[in-house]
Amino acid sequence: MSNDRIVIIGAGMAGAATAYFLTRKGLHNVLLLEREKLAGTQSTGRNAAILRTFIPNPLLNSLARESAEFYHNPPEGFATELLVNDVGVYLAARAENAATLNAWCDQNPEADVRRGDASKIYEQIPMLARGLEIAAYKADDGVLDVHSILQGFIRGARRDGAEMRLGIEFHSLQIRDSRLVGIETSDGFIEASKVIIANGAWASISSSFSGYSLPFTPYRRHLLITEVLPQVNPRWPVIWIVGEEFYFRPESGGLLMSGCDTVKVTPEQGVITDQAELERIADKAAHWLPTLADARVARAWSGMRTFAPDEMFVVGADPRLEGLYWVAGLGGHGITCSPVVGRIAADCVKEGKSNHPAASIMAPDRLTKHK
Ligand SMILES: Cc1cc2nc3c(=O)[nH]c(=O)nc-3n(C[C@H](O)[C@H](O)[C@H](O)COP(=O)(O)OP(=O)(O)OC[C@H]3O[C@@H](n4cnc5c(N)ncnc54)[C@H](O)[C@@H]3O)c2cc1C
Repeated sequence: MSNDRIVIIGAGMAGAATAYFLTRKGLHNVLLLEREKLAGTQSTGRNAAILRTFIPNPLLNSLARESAEFYHNPPEGFATELLVNDVGVYLAARAENAATLNAWCDQNPEADVRRGDASKIYEQIPMLARGLEIAAYKADDGVLDVHSILQGFIRGARRDGAEMRLGIEFHSLQIRDSRLVGIETSDGFIEASKVIIANGAWASISSSFSGYSLPFTPYRRHLLITEVLPQVNPRWPVIWIVGEEFYFRPESGGLLMSGCDTVKVTPEQGVITDQAELERIADKAAHWLPTLADARVARAWSGMRTFAPDEMFVVGADPRLEGLYWVAGLGGHGITCSPVVGRIAADCVKEGKSNHPAASIMAPDRLTKHK
């Protein structure tokens, strides 16, 4: 009897987007498996939700722009809310970091970015400390509604036949006579002909993959949200200060901030908040927003950005084992880029390959060739 079940491990943005595009392609026997009791509680629920389509890496930049199209014009019935709050995103720099900022923009000439001095930022945010000289602005970038996007993918996939099972932990791949036959889980054996690994930071746990692991590394990053601040206008843009590793944007009546820390961790350490890191954010905030130096922190947390060694996404078939696929290593751009990532993953599963120009660069074979 043929078993055509496709199991996706992990109901974060990567797994949800993949499930959505698989079902859109007519593959309905899809099981989305999640260890937590809710979908999207790991990196997908712990990020800054910024849609920024000018990224230094030109390939990621083009994936981000293509994905932004989806967010600005989602398919009929995908969501009832707007998915992008297009407050705009500024990259800004002191004179000594101008070259870095200009290089980001020069590498991506197609991006519709307005470059100039930083005066427009100071007009909008007069309390920002002086010292920024140049800026690049993308007007239709901004803040993503992560919850609505995740639910849009999951709802769409389920409407088209996919099943989601929560509270079930994937333990290992099951291989018999060199063939992938399914997975072992906390709920027993699940038969499947195809298994898609979309479990974020846990893709780095090599013992789960029965000899077919790939080299992923999770890095921890902290975010905090201040108390409600009457001085903050919710229409302020996102401000990313290049070379200072500091960004902020309005959130819940206050400001969301990050000091862009990048600390290598195990998945278990990834959500442990480090007080010293929060103090570093507060120091940067006190420098750049001195009138808010005494603002209280309403909420702080950390999450993981998981990378392959070359920091490129890993999407597609594992050439070592028929039926094994990866949608992992989405680093710091997994929310922004998930529509294209999910579409490419679904092409690889359904057609055996994707014709997208980025597909060969993201394919897992680059990481298995030299092993
Ligand atoms: C502080 C911070 C800020 C960020 N800011 C942005 C941003 O502004 N814009 C942007 O685009 N991206 C941002 N990112 C990156 C983005 O959050 C990630 O790229 C994205 O969430 C990755 O999604 P994922 O589905 O691969 O991983 P996850 O969301 O972590 O999902 C993986 C899922 O797999 C499940 N799982 C793990 N192991 C198992 C198992 N054994 N069995 C079953 N289920 C399992 C987990 O519970 C989890 O739900 C940020 C990340 C961080 C940490």
